[in-house]
Amino acid sequence: MYLILLGAPGVGKGTQSKYLVENKGFVQLSTGDILRAEVKAKTDLGIIAKKCMDNGTLVSDELVVAMIKNKLIEIPENVIFDGFPRTITQAEKFVEILSDLNRTLDKVINISLDDTLIEERLAGRLVCKGCGRSYHKLFSKPKNIDICDDCGGDLYQRSDDNLESVRNRLEVYHSTTKPLIDYYSKSGILYNLDGNKESRDLFNDIVKVLEEEI
Ligand code: AMP
Repeated sequence: MYLILLGAPGVGKGTQSKYLVENKGFVQLSTGDILRAEVKAKTDLGIIAKKCMDNGTLVSDELVVAMIKNKLIEIPENVIFDGFPRTITQAEKFVEILSDLNRTLDKVINISLDDTLIEERLAGRLVCKGCGRSYHKLFSKPKNIDICDDCGGDLYQRSDDNLESVRNRLEVYHSTTKPLIDYYSKSGILYNLDGNKESRDLFNDIVKVLEEEI
């Protein structure tokens, strides 16, 4: 199964991907995570990507598409695409990649949430350096501040989770990524879910979509 999780930054794509990996045997392909690893390792791609990521703009379609293509060759099945595609061009190139590899996209789940709630979520978000689990300073606190409940890893605030960058990311989402909702609704594989709920409840909604109950 190939599944895209679509939605603005902060709607819960990463958290839901982790649940799907733990409970449903998926592999998560997060372009944001891959790019952050490239930045950390100071590779050529990381050096180019860093500027865009810091100010909340998108890395070029060409680089991201090449990155996805390489990863897909390594992972044959049950993949969640988290944060990809983010532009119509990426979506069109993705069709070509899948067709070259003889694979098909099964479902696209779009998670929606108001911008004001997204700003609130991202301003207080803490992420585990070890396992990637997200917390919130006020709404979903870890037992010990700065330490992950699950793996004991250090928690940090992403450098692009500051208000200026969040507002840029939301602007980019509305102008460039949101049109993908219309793009995929035409293909009949789009499911719309409300992101304004407890993450476990949203996960149950996703499971229903996967089990074709919605
Ligand atoms: P994310 O972790 O998904 O919020 O992504 C963090 C940042 O990585 C974004 O703000 C972009 O700069 C970059 N990025 C992630 N995925 C993509 C993509 N599919 N296309 C272009 N840039 C991306």
